[in-house]
Amino acid sequence: MATAKKATKKKSTRKAKTTWQDEIKNMLLAMRKELLQEVSQSMKAESDHLKHDIGDFYDQASSDRDRELSLMLADREREKVVLVDDALKRIENGTYGICDSCDEVIDKERLIAMPFTKLCLSCQEDLERG
Ligand SMILES: [Zn+2]
Repeated sequence: MATAKKATKKKSTRKAKTTWQDEIKNMLLAMRKELLQEVSQSMKAESDHLKHDIGDFYDQASSDRDRELSLMLADREREKVVLVDDALKRIENGTYGICDSCDEVIDKERLIAMPFTKLCLSCQEDLERG
């Protein structure tokens, strides 16, 4: 598969062949966009709740619970956005795909399956074993 001749001489303007890291980057960017949409949707739902609450004092208890739920969801989404941003940052500065714990290169397949992971399989297993 790999071509013997590597055309690395000139920095061709960003139309160069996509590496698997680029693929992951695109994947992460798409994920990020989706997550942000979800967050803004639940924030919108949240502000609808607030508007609703003003004239609806007796429903307070149940809508409080709804609000808690939507906040919890948004929190989880925000957390994921942080993970995506973190992974993107690591791609930018070239540390992506290196195990946080042992500095070994993490398997490409593992990264594609779990783009946020910071640990190689064996360190992850060590961690899970405790
Ligand atoms: Zn490791």
